[in-house]
Amino acid sequence: RAIVRDIDMLGEKSLLTKITIFNPSIKPKPTAEVDPTIFEKRFLTKYRALGEGHFGKVELCRYDPRGDKTGELVAVKSLKPEKQEEQGTNLSREIDILKALFHENIVRYKGICGQAYKLIMEYVPLGSLKDYLPRHKKDTSLATLLSYSVQICKGMEYLGSKNYIHRDLAARNVLVENERTVKIGDFGLTKCIKDNEGYYTVKDENDSPVFWYAPECLTQCKFYLASDVWSFGVTLYELITYCDSSKSPMTCFLDMIGSTHGQMTVMRLVKMLNEGRRLPQPDGCPEVYELMRKCWDQKPERRITFTALIKELSNML
Ligand code: ADP
Ligand code: MG
Repeated sequence: RAIVRDIDMLGEKSLLTKITIFNPSIKPKPTAEVDPTIFEKRFLTKYRALGEGHFGKVELCRYDPRGDKTGELVAVKSLKPEKQEEQGTNLSREIDILKALFHENIVRYKGICGQAYKLIMEYVPLGSLKDYLPRHKKDTSLATLLSYSVQICKGMEYLGSKNYIHRDLAARNVLVENERTVKIGDFGLTKCIKDNEGYYTVKDENDSPVFWYAPECLTQCKFYLASDVWSFGVTLYELITYCDSSKSPMTCFLDMIGSTHGQMTVMRLVKMLNEGRRLPQPDGCPEVYELMRKCWDQKPERRITFTALIKELSNML
C-alpha cells in the first residue's frame, strides 16, 4: 500500500520511467546494437577540404571513437552556411535517397552526424573526374575512359531502375576510387519520379547546370530519365576531352553562342540546340562521338538508353 502511494506521487511521466527501469523483461540494448549510421560529432576530426559545389562543401575527416587514429576516413558533406536556410531540406532528401542505393558505381552512404544533418559517406580518395583527368592524362588510355563511361552508365541504369533521375550528371560529380573504378556522387538534385509522370518539373532554376541540360529541361523544365542520358552524353564528351577546361561544354557552347549574353544565354543556347547544333567532335574517336550524338537527340523518346549505351561502349573496349 505504501509503495502504491509512493508511485502515485511520482506523477505519470516519472512513473513510466520508473516502470521501464525496473521492468525485468526489458533488457538494456547491448552496445553492439548502437546505430552505426549515427556519427558523433566529438569523434570526428577534420583533415582537409575535399571540394565544394553549388550547395555544399565536403571535408575529409577521421571518425575515431577510440581516439587512437585507427578510426576510418570518411567524407563529410555539409551545406554552405548561406545555403542552409533554403537547402536544409535538400540535404536531408539527399541523405534519404543515398541511404537506399547500393551499387558499386554509386558513392556509399555511411550515416549522418549532428542536428544539422551532415551527410557521412565513404571517402573516395582520388577526387572528382574533373580534378583527376587533366592531371592523369598520360596514364589514362581511351580504353580506361570507356571503362569509366560504362561504369557511370551502370550506376545510372541502377538509379533509373529505382525510379530516380539524377539531374546533375557531370564529370564534377563522378568520383575516382582508383585507376580502374569510378562512382557517381552528389545526389543533391536527384528526384524521385512518380511512376505515372516520368518526368520532374523544376521550380527553382537558379543553380541549374544548363550546359549539361537537354532541351526539354531548358524549355519546359521537364526531366525524364532520357534527360539524364543527354547529360551523360555531355559527361562522355568531358571524359574524352580529359576535362580540358579550354574545351569544356561551357566554353564550347559559349563560343558557339558568341560571347556572353547574360540573361539571354539560356535562350540562345536553346535556339542553337533547336537548330540541331551540338558540341563538336573531340579529336579522334568518331565512334564515341556517334554515341554522344545518340544521347543528344532532340526528342527524349528517341535517345539511346543507358542499357544500350552499356552494350555499345563495352563493344568498343
Ligand atoms: P555539391 O552538391 O555542392 O556540388 P558535391 O557532392 O558534388 O557537392 O561535392 C563537391 C566536391 O567534393 C566534388 O566535386 C568532389 O571533388 C568532392 N567530393 C564529394 N564527395 C566526395 C567523396 N565522397 N570523396 C572524395 N571527394 C568528394
Ligand atoms: Mg556537385
